[in-house]
Amino acid sequence: MKITSITCSCCGAAYEVAEAASVQGATGEENCVLCGEVVARWNEPRLRAVRLVMATEHRYARVPAPPAFEALS
Ligand SMILES: [Zn+2]
Repeated sequence: MKITSITCSCCGAAYEVAEAASVQGATGEENCVLCGEVVARWNEPRLRAVRLVMATEHRYARVPAPPAFEALS
């Protein structure tokens, strides 16, 4: 099993592509679950599974400043 990391070129969501080298699959493509952009496409009959590992809202989540920090300024 080969694991490749890919990133959606549209929204930046991170995906992992797992490829089974010894199992016959089919050609196909995967769309980003967040924005619908094609994130992976393959023309060989391979068995591949695409998994979302990090959504952009988590990666760029805004962390509110703690109240104590605001009191100091
Ligand atoms: Zn996307």
